[in-house]
Amino acid sequence: MSDAANPFESLQEQLDDAAHHLDVSSDLLERLKHPERIIETNLTVELDDGSLEVFKAFRSQFNGDRGPYKGGIRYHPDVGRDEVKALSGWMVYKTAIVDIPYGGGKGGIAIDPRQYSDGELERVTRAFAKELRPFIGPDTDVPAPDVNTGQREMNWIKDTYETLENTTAPGVVTGKAPDSGGSAGRVEATGRSVMLTAREAFDYLGKDTEGATVAVQGYGNAGSVAAKLIQSELGADVVAVSDSGGAIYHSEGFDAAAVKDVKDESGSVTDYEDVEEELSNEELLTLDVDLLVPAALENAIDEDIAREMEADVVVEAANGPVTPDADDVLTEREVAVFPDILANAGGVTVSYFEWVQNRQRFYWTEERVNDELERYIVDGFDALVTAYEGKDAPSFRTAAYIVAIDRVVSAYEQGGTWP
Ligand code: GLU
Repeated sequence: MSDAANPFESLQEQLDDAAHHLDVSSDLLERLKHPERIIETNLTVELDDGSLEVFKAFRSQFNGDRGPYKGGIRYHPDVGRDEVKALSGWMVYKTAIVDIPYGGGKGGIAIDPRQYSDGELERVTRAFAKELRPFIGPDTDVPAPDVNTGQREMNWIKDTYETLENTTAPGVVTGKAPDSGGSAGRVEATGRSVMLTAREAFDYLGKDTEGATVAVQGYGNAGSVAAKLIQSELGADVVAVSDSGGAIYHSEGFDAAAVKDVKDESGSVTDYEDVEEELSNEELLTLDVDLLVPAALENAIDEDIAREMEADVVVEAANGPVTPDADDVLTEREVAVFPDILANAGGVTVSYFEWVQNRQRFYWTEERVNDELERYIVDGFDALVTAYEGKDAPSFRTAAYIVAIDRVVSAYEQGGTWP
């Protein structure tokens, strides 16, 4: 992964690119380029050996024009202010393109969770929840899982919040376990929207998914579920997958679910046995495949990789996997890139369904969740394509931002400026 691009600058560049195609004044655009508020805190937590450690943590509330701030909390040693700012901005435009009534936010703790016990992680999480308590709530800011966080962390945040507030408020976070108010279908939702976006993209481009070759970079929740569904629902062959331990290739395609089982047991996809070849991360990204799904972290595809890439279509499961320079190269080379803010929006869309169910205390079947999700992603895709064709957008990413910015600006203008 290249560390050349600052993700916050990438976000601002993406907004500028789209603004050329929109009637947005420069002062309004400026407003869209900065977070409304950032909470930065240092969490002092007792470790199992009795010593204390201080962890840096952030929550960026980027924009609330369309509803409560919404977005995940990630645990990663590289978490920093600019990364969290960028990720919170991407959430604004993600919730707008799929048209769910939220703004955008994001949080993170600079921690490598693998180095800490479950008890230590619980204390870190509860310490963060306590710091965030005045700033979050079902109507103000609703966190969710992100990299290295999941149901367990969300259950802890909910419990801490409810205990301190002396209430029940399951809608304060989404991505909870079903017995704690989570929704059916939430765990698979991000991967499902990646599959749906790939399906719509291939259809739009007049390509067949049956027998198409696919490479997936990153095999966490988003990548592994996307691989499984692209294989089972679209009939494509997942010929290469990777994680931080390395990449594997088989020309006839893997059983994507079996690879995930091996990763869950041993820690890496590279322990899967039926492999033709081991590849480097760069070799995987530059494979000659029909579809590439970057599903790891930001900046995975830089300018050099973009020049070498041979995939026809890219569907972004990760947030910000293509740097702006790489994006320019891919646009010039006519590689069809379907952006993160639509492709991985399934996670936050089913978070929205979870929040709706929490407010009504009435729970849906998985079938209903998946049907509604399909509707939101297909509608988002159609809006993107309409903008792509009608606004003369150079890329599908710019088209997505055109739609999203328009919706955010419209909400802001309808509210009027105050004070
Ligand atoms: N972390 C996910 C994302 O980047 C989900 C956010 C949410 O459910 O609020 O979209």
